[in-house]
Amino acid sequence: MSESRVTIDGAALRHNLQRVRQCRPAAPILAMVKADAYGHGALAIAGILAAAGVDALGVAHLDEALALRAAGISTPITLLEGLVGHEELDQVARQHLHLIVHHRQQLQALLQWSGALQRVWIKVNTGMNRLGFRPQEVAAVAAALRQRGGIAEIGLLTHLACADDEADAQTDVHLQRFADCRRAVAVEHHSCANSALILSRPGAGDDWVRPGLMLYGASPLLGRRADELDLRPVMRLTSRVIAVQSVRAGETVGYGATWRAQHDGRIAIVGIGYGDGYPRTATAAPVALRGRRYALAGRVSMDMLAITVGMDEVAVGDEVELWGGQVAIDTVAACAGTLSYELLCRLTQRAQRHYE
Ligand SMILES: *Cc1c(COP(=O)(O)O)cnc(C)c1O
Repeated sequence: MSESRVTIDGAALRHNLQRVRQCRPAAPILAMVKADAYGHGALAIAGILAAAGVDALGVAHLDEALALRAAGISTPITLLEGLVGHEELDQVARQHLHLIVHHRQQLQALLQWSGALQRVWIKVNTGMNRLGFRPQEVAAVAAALRQRGGIAEIGLLTHLACADDEADAQTDVHLQRFADCRRAVAVEHHSCANSALILSRPGAGDDWVRPGLMLYGASPLLGRRADELDLRPVMRLTSRVIAVQSVRAGETVGYGATWRAQHDGRIAIVGIGYGDGYPRTATAAPVALRGRRYALAGRVSMDMLAITVGMDEVAVGDEVELWGGQVAIDTVAACAGTLSYELLCRLTQRAQRHYE
């Protein structure tokens, strides 16, 4: 059996949800559980968030929503990308799902279908230029949905392209486009804040917020650490030492002989690799072992990686934290040239999940 293990801390999740409420006390919360709740396990996370009273859950795809419903989650669920065709609209209605419409074709499908829906969000493109209607199209889209009837509530939503960088002036331009749009169109709900905006611009407004990453305790803001934002890591990724080897000065470790020992010392081999989802590109990333930090030595292999431990006391079976409370996932992500979002989502099923 694999030595690698993912431990999920439900109390940390509830703490981070509380941070959302501190930042935006009046805002209803659409909590993101797409991509298996950022790799944390959608069913367990959705259960905790639903019990903690979030107003809705967000997923990208219909099958993600159906899995939550099959597990007995009755909280409203929003399909962030809507549907491609209209065959599935009956299922959406039957399962009480909320839809985002971001494309003319989706609007046509909705207009031609005769069923009823509780809530439809119109996605406005304010600068991401990925999904959504242009601001000047939104009034016509809203009017068409109103005229159709059978849709109890309409919302206006945008997703910001640059909110992760607090110094980026484009965010003000994007927010201004959204503000102009909402002045022109009367709807029941509004939403623009992802984790980055919730933390960087707290406030009293009652627009819906859409936290994802911050719920899981990683930092959504460039150059800001999760702990300084008072976020607690929900996931702890650990494995164990499976061998301890001595290396002499001048010897190399691992594929490609990319790491060379400067002194005589020891290497601990840890039973986790890119086959578990640990990034192969992480160079010299930190790990924690017996309360101390050590660095990776050489390349990450499929099933193992090496760390340099000098002459310290280390034994086979010792637990090693790859990320969690001692090693911030954002630090590992920086070493790997990526973001914590990607590290969380690409963990494989090899690591056993434990919920506490
Ligand atoms: C994933 C997603 C979010 C959450 O983003 P974070 O940066 O993780 O907070 C918000 N809105 C939409 C539409 C999303 O797809």
